Amino acid sequence: MSCSISTLSILLSILIIIHSIRSAANPSAPNIRNDSDSLRKGSSDYGNIVHEIPTGVLYPSTEKDIIDLIRSRSPLTVAARGRGHSVRGQAMAGGGVVVDMTALGGKGGRIQISKSSSGMYADVGGEQLWIDVLRAAVAEGVAPVSWTDYVYLSVGGTLSNAGISGQAFLHGPQIANVVELDVITGKGEFMSCSRTRNPELFYGVLGGLGQFGIITRARIILDKAPTRVKWAKLLYSNFTTFSRDQEYLISNNCSNYVEGFLITNENAANEWTSSSPSRQDDVAALLKKQGILYAIELVKYYDNQTAATIDEEFETLLKELKYMSGYNMTTDASFVDFIARVGNLDNETPPLQSHPWLNLFIPKSGIFDFNAGVLAGMLPKLNHTSGIFIFYPLNRNKWDERMSAVVPDEEVFYALSLLHSTPQDDYHYIDEFNQGILEFCRRKGIEVKQYLPNIKSKQEWIHQFGSKWPTIQKRKAMFDPNTILSPGQRIFNSA
Ligand SMILES: Cc1cc2nc3c(=O)[nH]c(=O)nc-3n(C[C@H](O)[C@H](O)[C@H](O)COP(=O)(O)OP(=O)(O)OC[C@H]3O[C@@H](n4cnc5c(N)ncnc54)[C@H](O)[C@@H]3O)c2cc1C
Repeated sequence: MSCSISTLSILLSILIIIHSIRSAANPSAPNIRNDSDSLRKGSSDYGNIVHEIPTGVLYPSTEKDIIDLIRSRSPLTVAARGRGHSVRGQAMAGGGVVVDMTALGGKGGRIQISKSSSGMYADVGGEQLWIDVLRAAVAEGVAPVSWTDYVYLSVGGTLSNAGISGQAFLHGPQIANVVELDVITGKGEFMSCSRTRNPELFYGVLGGLGQFGIITRARIILDKAPTRVKWAKLLYSNFTTFSRDQEYLISNNCSNYVEGFLITNENAANEWTSSSPSRQDDVAALLKKQGILYAIELVKYYDNQTAATIDEEFETLLKELKYMSGYNMTTDASFVDFIARVGNLDNETPPLQSHPWLNLFIPKSGIFDFNAGVLAGMLPKLNHTSGIFIFYPLNRNKWDERMSAVVPDEEVFYALSLLHSTPQDDYHYIDEFNQGILEFCRRKGIEVKQYLPNIKSKQEWIHQFGSKWPTIQKRKAMFDPNTILSPGQRIFNSA
């Protein structure tokens, strides 16, 4: 395998050098670069699976640089690149120009916190990272209400998808907590938009997979920041009890964050057993018997005013849940440490792994079949792979139907993230596994929607968007009629 890995990497390097020499012969705008470092960055992402080489990378110092690029009509395609945390080339533009959004933030000052009687919000450059929004807001005693698990993601990148984490059941995804945007459309027009001003663009861009415009500013809703959190992890052996408790938790406002994890090997169960060898044997036996265990992660925020009562409130909440007796862990952490709990994963250079992830939204009506067939059926057989498997329910009434993001047509649906890691380029067996899951859902009539979609054909895209497809087509014709934006999503330029 190492032979084919190095062969592929060497091939990519040679292609990048050839592209770099060829493009150097065609000078373009001054801040478009085509050196091999730029082309390598423009043709790579977190997935490390797709590599589309652009002709150049634009490093914009102002919005005008992006407008000029689009108006020049010289590149056939243009893709904004937030931080390249996509896993299937969604932020690439093979043969076009990648816009490195980080360059916009070069001068600083692109996170402004406002607190007034009319509301509290952050005006944030589309290139900014959520970790920096967190730091700037908390310094003023406020914070966004909806997050992603990982906060080294760009604001423009997550708003182009949805932005979900354990707070979304209560506040909706990040796209539901934005009140205004500045956008550069595929026609090179700079437009401000909101629910009342240019609403078609506003709703289009939120969850719009980069298809209708490039977000250069977002106004994000803030609330008073808590200072600390009570944070529990609860173990379950029974899916019915686990999903009932999860759904109970998202049906009331007693907690601030609810997620869940799927445990298919003993390493993942270690958290619950490291302090007790007898428990280790029990959990190992259970895992052997049923192949999977489930865990709920639950958080309640507090601050100085509620510090005296939080322990009692949290205990009362835990008492209502039916986790495996004795298999619960509770910690106390600062709010910032909790939100930034995953840390910074971006130091892996050069990338040594591929990430063939599958993210799905599954309607509640199919969840027992899905558990039997996929979670308890297929997933335990993959225990030779490394990965994190996240699974939790969300409330559809917290999503705005007018936005481009798509979710199942049921009041409660589950988010599943199968975050696989494989040795670089050794991901094909996971692709087959992921495909097997989608086929299972088709066979069983479970109408899943892909999140962070990896879709290759027009027909599948039409199915993914469902009843929103005519709106998506209309918005494309209005804001990007020459279909130049974010070609890596393969929506309007797929077969
Ligand atoms: C380790 C890790 C953890 C993650 N955790 C979560 C999570 O908890 N919840 C969650 O919801 N997602 C999560 N994601 C997925 C993440 O939301 C997407 O990768 C998203 O694309 C953000 O990454 P990015 O900012 O690097 O965007 P990119 O990958 O650079 O871009 C994504 C898409 O958006 C377009 N785009 C980028 N910037 C803009 C802009 N300013 N305007 C318009 N279009 C733009 C790109 O062209 C591309 O099509 C995670 C990803 C990783 C790698």
